Amino acid sequence: MPAGFESIKGLGPRRIQALEKAGIHSPEELLLYLPVKYVDYTNVKPIADCVSGEDAVLRVSVYGKPSQAHVNGKTLTRAVLCDETGKIHATWFRQPWMYKQLVDSEEFTVYGRVENKNGVLRLSAPRVVTELRFTPKYKPIDAVPAKLLSDIIKQSLARCVLPETLPAKLRNEYGLMDRNEAVRILHDPIDRPSLEKALYRFRFEDMLCFMVCAFAMKPVNRDGIRVDVCEKDVSDFTGNLPFPLTGAQRRVLGEILTDLRSTKPMARLVQGDVGCGKTAVAFAAIYACAKAGFQCAMMAPTEILAEQHFESAQSLLEKLGVKCALLTGSISQKKHREVLDAIERGEIQAVFGTHALVSPSVKFKNLALAITDEQHRFGVRQRTRLGEKGENPNVLVMSATPIPRTMALILYGDLDISVIDELPPGRIPVKTRLVPENKRGDMYRFIIQQASLGRQAYFVCPLVEDSETVEAESATHLYESMKQSELGKLKLGLIYGKQKAEEKQQVLDAYYRGETDVLVSTTVIEVGVNVPNATVMVVENAERFGLSQLHQLRGRVGRGNGEAWCFLMANATQKLKILTETNDGFKIAEKDMELRGPGDLFGTRQTGAIAGLDVRFGEDSNLLALTNNLARKIAESGDEDSAMIRLSAQAWLKTKNDVIFAAN
Ligand code: ADP
Ligand code: MG
Repeated sequence: MPAGFESIKGLGPRRIQALEKAGIHSPEELLLYLPVKYVDYTNVKPIADCVSGEDAVLRVSVYGKPSQAHVNGKTLTRAVLCDETGKIHATWFRQPWMYKQLVDSEEFTVYGRVENKNGVLRLSAPRVVTELRFTPKYKPIDAVPAKLLSDIIKQSLARCVLPETLPAKLRNEYGLMDRNEAVRILHDPIDRPSLEKALYRFRFEDMLCFMVCAFAMKPVNRDGIRVDVCEKDVSDFTGNLPFPLTGAQRRVLGEILTDLRSTKPMARLVQGDVGCGKTAVAFAAIYACAKAGFQCAMMAPTEILAEQHFESAQSLLEKLGVKCALLTGSISQKKHREVLDAIERGEIQAVFGTHALVSPSVKFKNLALAITDEQHRFGVRQRTRLGEKGENPNVLVMSATPIPRTMALILYGDLDISVIDELPPGRIPVKTRLVPENKRGDMYRFIIQQASLGRQAYFVCPLVEDSETVEAESATHLYESMKQSELGKLKLGLIYGKQKAEEKQQVLDAYYRGETDVLVSTTVIEVGVNVPNATVMVVENAERFGLSQLHQLRGRVGRGNGEAWCFLMANATQKLKILTETNDGFKIAEKDMELRGPGDLFGTRQTGAIAGLDVRFGEDSNLLALTNNLARKIAESGDEDSAMIRLSAQAWLKTKNDVIFAAN
């Protein structure tokens, strides 16, 4: 078997370099460069059924005579094409050879984008298709033309046999095609059923490997830290809260305490809609651990949130004798050093912070509980890193983005799940309205009226083109224009990601204290911030946000017991309307998933690339559940087949360059 590219024709050093840059180092790896979509040239459409904007394959002949003209020095070829059902006008610029082809051909097949202009169907530069079957399309590689890419893949197919990665028993049991055969079909499909079977084999393998990798991070058979939780401590803490816990909070706290008491390390996700009170549950667990003589850490995705947790901890935990500290990137060097030393000596029992907590300089004396808040903002790796700070500490992750089971399996396949499915009593659902631009003035007047009642409002601007600079500009711009408007008579604050931490804190403090009426911000306030007096949330360019994100945002208001409003600045769309219809975060998340996928495999496939894994929601949920169960068994089994799959999963993870577990 040839080892390298030498045996492949058409590859010089420059192209080999280009392939290597794309992560392809051998003909075998080239075979694993699988097509991203297929165009089905067998799926011929009658002209009468053509819809504007779609790509269609048509079987046509020429109606009348084709024509050729010169426009601005370019050749323009025109023809009317027809089948039994209708006619369509086709044009080609700068393809003089088309004329002869049109004159000579009787019946032929074309492929192109159909447009309907005033009732006349048109095709612009359709391609004449000669090979009538599924044609694989690859993601382009720089400096390797598409035609060459197909050609070198064909050559590799003739030269290599790919080794199997899944045990025969498993393949039989789940009807999975042989790996080598599947690859052949994917690059050179003959019919739809076999193509689907080949695709399934790879989807199955992808997800199984993903799940196996997720389970590999869970300390399954290792002993963790047993915390001797004292019932009285727990009730001391809860009795000191300004409110009784809800039934759901009590149930979930019970599940956590049971985990803590067991020698098996806890690995648990707490899910609950915004405002359901996850913090109180986490604090109760922290209190129980601290009283039993252990340390706890709680990590949040933003400094603002970490500070807010620290502040609540001071009044709820420190008051009861638990020593707390804050660790973020913007704490002074001296203070930082002091805190690190105190943590190492065990003088501090509960540390709150950002990802600064996972830096190597942070050393605990006896970390028993590692909590990650707003987990969806972190990658899986970061979550586990906090857990690596102790000797198999108990790990608790909390997520306010309620996610459907499908996605929970992807992101947290290795975790036990608890759900806080009840909001504290007395919450009035946030009234959500879509506001078109021409009603902005009315909305401003409403906000002024709210401010006269002592209430506050948020304005959130979207992330523009993923650029923090542009984002800051859009918030600044809005802030300036508000100053010129009627709202100018209110006290306005502005906050965005690039400001200095100190400045941000000042703006936020002023808002907490009620000294500003309106806070204009970028998405920095998205997570967890709690200002009970805020009753209005305005989201600018709401159409740019995902539904779940909008639901999160409106969760920032209505935290007190008064009425609250969320105004989505956007024209009414089906998508946004859902938010005006329901307040159920799970329903919204499901809709969100539904809208992002599933698409059509044979065309523009819309996929939800979650955590680097390509998943079609809905369609893939059974497969996810299936592979999750399998991975659970594989993680605990010592047999040969399981060992083979674990090895395959490791190799698979390497090809993913760590992207999957690095960020989401
Ligand atoms: P989230 O689950 O979104 O993190 P928080 O923990 O920030 O929610 O809680 C939201 C608000 O609800 C806080 O102001 C908190 O004090 C309050 N809260 C939490 N639990 C209860 C409860 N059982 N009864 C009344 N208010 C509660
Ligand atoms: Mg929270």
